[in-house]
Amino acid sequence: MLDQKLKSQLAQYLDLLKTEVVIGLSVNEDENSKKVKEFVDDVASLSSKIKVEEKKLQYIPSFELKGEFDHGKIVFAGLPLGHEFASFALALLQVGGIEPKVDPSIKKRIKALDGCDFETIVSLSCHNCPDVVQALNIMAILNPSVNHTMIEGSMFQDLAEERDVLAVPAIFKDGDFFEGGKQSIETILDKLGSKIDANHFADKGLFDVLIIGGGPAAATAAIYAARKGIKTGIIASEFGGQVNETLGIENIPGFKYTEGPDFMNQMKEQALALDVDIMTGALADNIEKKDALVEISLDNGAKLETKTAIIATGARWRLIGIPGETEFRNKGVAYCTHCDGPLFKGKNVAVIGGGNSGIEAAIDLAGMVKHVTVLEFLPELKADEVLQKKVKSLDNVDIITNAQTTGLYGSNRLENLEYTDRISGKENKIDIAGCFIQVGLVPNTEWLEKTEVKLSQRGEIITGPDGATNVEGIFAAGDVTEELFKQIVIAAGSGATAALGAFNFLMRK
Ligand SMILES: Cc1cc2nc3c(=O)[nH]c(=O)nc-3n(C[C@H](O)[C@H](O)[C@H](O)COP(=O)(O)OP(=O)(O)OC[C@H]3O[C@@H](n4cnc5c(N)ncnc54)[C@H](O)[C@@H]3O)c2cc1C
Repeated sequence: MLDQKLKSQLAQYLDLLKTEVVIGLSVNEDENSKKVKEFVDDVASLSSKIKVEEKKLQYIPSFELKGEFDHGKIVFAGLPLGHEFASFALALLQVGGIEPKVDPSIKKRIKALDGCDFETIVSLSCHNCPDVVQALNIMAILNPSVNHTMIEGSMFQDLAEERDVLAVPAIFKDGDFFEGGKQSIETILDKLGSKIDANHFADKGLFDVLIIGGGPAAATAAIYAARKGIKTGIIASEFGGQVNETLGIENIPGFKYTEGPDFMNQMKEQALALDVDIMTGALADNIEKKDALVEISLDNGAKLETKTAIIATGARWRLIGIPGETEFRNKGVAYCTHCDGPLFKGKNVAVIGGGNSGIEAAIDLAGMVKHVTVLEFLPELKADEVLQKKVKSLDNVDIITNAQTTGLYGSNRLENLEYTDRISGKENKIDIAGCFIQVGLVPNTEWLEKTEVKLSQRGEIITGPDGATNVEGIFAAGDVTEELFKQIVIAAGSGATAALGAFNFLMRK
């Protein structure tokens, strides 16, 4: 089941096990059970600290990992291969006595939780799924009243269908749908209503530079500021930003290829090594000048003070505001082709948007699904010529321009899309199982609307050449600004500019 390379990699990790792990195996005689048994036997053969015993679990085939300390149930239903292999290896080490690396404030929030049974339906090709599986497993490790089962969608197709899962990861809590898509421990805790305690920020003192946001603009600003030897902090809902949603990145100079979460982890380590105080788990909801200082209020009631601030709150997917868009989210409406494309194998899908992201999505989907219809509002596609050439060469992609999508409809899940031909006015309907909406980004600036920070008509922050906003001491960087191109190196570059701008400002004062 495991090839030699995986076995030797895993064997090295298993040398780290501190205590015994019992794998409780729940299988029958069917083919899938045989595969899972073979996987578990292979793993057990790599360490004398792993024992296997029969166990009756809810799902067949599945297995439970049990360590020597009191923790919640950690179950894998189906095979944790592909992207989930790392989740399995980590869970094995954690039940084997290796404590997960978690910020103490987050640990406190996890320990305060009161009994939750989570299940996550994943696909092995989904790069967002391991974050969720690993986050929920860590929660089960740290709190014995939290249980988590990873369910591999292709082995449990009937269950996925029964629960109308059309996007992964799909998280269920106590049997009901809880949340879909990429999540971190912080976002799951937020959704469970567990806010980070305001007291956690009580003794932070006065920062020289406080950066709001956790993407590449914020991280680079922090690295530049901290290298000047000034007290630097980051406050972010979570660290990583949009880059965490990016599987393969090929346009960062010096890196032929990297993956979003790895890249942001390196930035985080670099910032931490420079003593940047990275505070996550709360959103900034106000910023104002108080005499010579800047005060930032958080949504948990805490307030932070700083001599200068850099706003780098980035952007998020734009909604188009049509009926069905939110109702069918995770039930046919999707954004991530790498994650959710495989779930539409053999089916018809639509892509709304003919810019670079829409056409890239259509090309990607064409290899996975039966047919793709691209709907573009304008008379022509806006994507780069090279992408247009590629998409037009594909047999199973149709492009409809001048198409105004008016609604997404279905019963339990998305079934069709309606659009109006903007030239003839004719209304049309196409049957689809999935719709990928790719109509650009919206800046995360709603929280600034009531502040003095000046925004453009598009809601983006207006900055000068040094990243300064109209408010003295407040700077901005990255996708949240008017910067024309929204890219990692551009965001990082403007983060550096804003940090140097803030440093110059401090020097002059
Ligand atoms: C799927 C996808 C693929 C991409 N691929 C590429 C690529 O291959 N190459 C490339 O160059 N670019 C790519 N991009 C674009 C690139 O990721 C962005 O340009 C870049 O991440 C912008 O960085 P940023 O720091 O400005 O903002 P973001 O990355 O958006 O980060 C903003 C951060 O601020 C936090 N935040 C938001 N509001 C608040 C608040 N009120 N308080 C506290 N924190 C807050 C968010 O949680 C987030 O951590 C891609 C984007 C996406 C979505």
